[in-house]
Amino acid sequence: MKRGDGRKKDELRNVRMEVGVLKRADGSAYVEWGNNKVFASVYGPREVIPRFLARNDRAILRCKYNMTPFSVEDRKRPGPDRRSVEIGKVTAGALEPAVILETYPNSMINVNIEVMQADAGTRCAGITAATLALVDAGIPMRDLVSACAAGKANDGIILDLSKEEDNKGQADIPMAIMPRSEEVTLLQMDGILTEDELEEALKLAVGGCKSIYELQKNALMAKYGE
Ligand code: UDP
Repeated sequence: MKRGDGRKKDELRNVRMEVGVLKRADGSAYVEWGNNKVFASVYGPREVIPRFLARNDRAILRCKYNMTPFSVEDRKRPGPDRRSVEIGKVTAGALEPAVILETYPNSMINVNIEVMQADAGTRCAGITAATLALVDAGIPMRDLVSACAAGKANDGIILDLSKEEDNKGQADIPMAIMPRSEEVTLLQMDGILTEDELEEALKLAVGGCKSIYELQKNALMAKYGE
């Protein structure tokens, strides 16, 4: 099967990552993933606002996902909407198992994801960038979180759907894992697949996450290595 951009079925788009890109954030990262351009920043641990959310046994992790109006072809109305609230929530869920929140009782860690250019797969790019920003902020982690989607388009099971493939695609499965244990921290799906197709797609997505993991480690080594 031939893909629009000439990729093999198990081939990622070009991915580039950089750690520590924003001076005034406690931690930050930039991820370019195909035509996606995503910044993640971390503020904290700091005082919990509003205070009633505080937990005396651990920190709370709050994630905000935002897409700029100019990030997509049809201008997006500024401000939160159902989709961005949902993505913020599933992002927090994807990151939480990896963050050792018990280190900071009565405090809050804020993760902000800003999508400057979107081209399908932004939640995976956001989770990948946010993980790097958490490490950059010095927050203790059990493992990195690496994300990637797989799905179905033109009747083929493929890794990392582009916007074109997503638009006329038959299924999309964003996934995040903690690569060392292969524990899954995000799994969503839209579309319809047979059981065999689902199995094949999940295998591809795990492989994609592992490739992303290697790139994350390289990006961290480029900043903190030696
Ligand atoms: N998109 C858009 N306008 C919107 C929301 C999304 O054009 O208001 C595009 C954008 O390119 C995004 C893609 O649709 O990356 C797929 O969106 P989805 O909700 O599947 O999330 P994603 O794949 O980005 O995690």
